[in-house]
Amino acid sequence: MDRGCERRADPGLLPGIWGAESTVVMLISAGKTLIRDQRIVLLPSAGRTLPELVVYLGRAEEGSDVPAGTDIVLEVVGAEDREAYDGDWLGLRDVATLLSGQDAGLFVEAAAVSNWHATHTHCPRCGAATEIESGGWVRRCPADGSEHYPRTDPAIIVSIVDEQDRLLLGNSAAWPAGRYSTLAGFVEPGESLEAAVIREIQEESGVVVHSPQYLGSQPWPFPSSLMLGFTATATGTATRADGVEIMDVRWFTRTELAAAIESGEVQVASGISIARALIERWYGGPLPEPKEGR
Ligand SMILES: [Zn+2]
Repeated sequence: MDRGCERRADPGLLPGIWGAESTVVMLISAGKTLIRDQRIVLLPSAGRTLPELVVYLGRAEEGSDVPAGTDIVLEVVGAEDREAYDGDWLGLRDVATLLSGQDAGLFVEAAAVSNWHATHTHCPRCGAATEIESGGWVRRCPADGSEHYPRTDPAIIVSIVDEQDRLLLGNSAAWPAGRYSTLAGFVEPGESLEAAVIREIQEESGVVVHSPQYLGSQPWPFPSSLMLGFTATATGTATRADGVEIMDVRWFTRTELAAAIESGEVQVASGISIARALIERWYGGPLPEPKEGR
């Protein structure tokens, strides 16, 4: 997909393409989209009224699931109107692993930008209701002219390894007792990513780390995060869970983690998350599944 950032600035973009055979509509309603046969339903725009809240998602390139040149536009649908459509309304977490790469990417883009619209309807300077511009990617205040852009909140997520190549995983206060994952936290204003890694890990686990190395990122629109994956080395092994966000932290060897997952004692993050990718990068391949009977 080509997001077509340069096309968005044209105020005639959406009225111009709406109704054309090459323009299709993806629906979103409180984070859920319409799914049929493990694909996002893309409706013809012809015959539909151009709604007030639409976002230009982009144009399909060669090799897409839809013909090259297809413009995809997001329409936000009220929960009360969902029943008018044939298909299942499902969230990103429900279907991400079933969708094609293109559909998963579209869903992430649509969820993130629609989450922003849902919570940023008014000007933060003066409180006036804002107006939507630039293909749904800008909101402008008619009172003071200020422009407001979709927000992304950076968060670091870290695989912490000690001198014996053991991995540190934590149990969050929000999770069941057996669920463990890599530690994570939001970057503060005026803070580098590396400083955030060192601060968050010490706060949550009591472990001092050094030499953070960036590995990769994942947009996580629940509602607006960008997860930045790192690995870092611990200077020591003593741990102290903060007892507020993190209830327990444990070091695992590969053998210990595999045994804990197989026995059902420990559950780790699902396949769609960067947490899983970080753990499997350290592990050296796919993690085992829980044994039968669990
Ligand atoms: Zn204003």
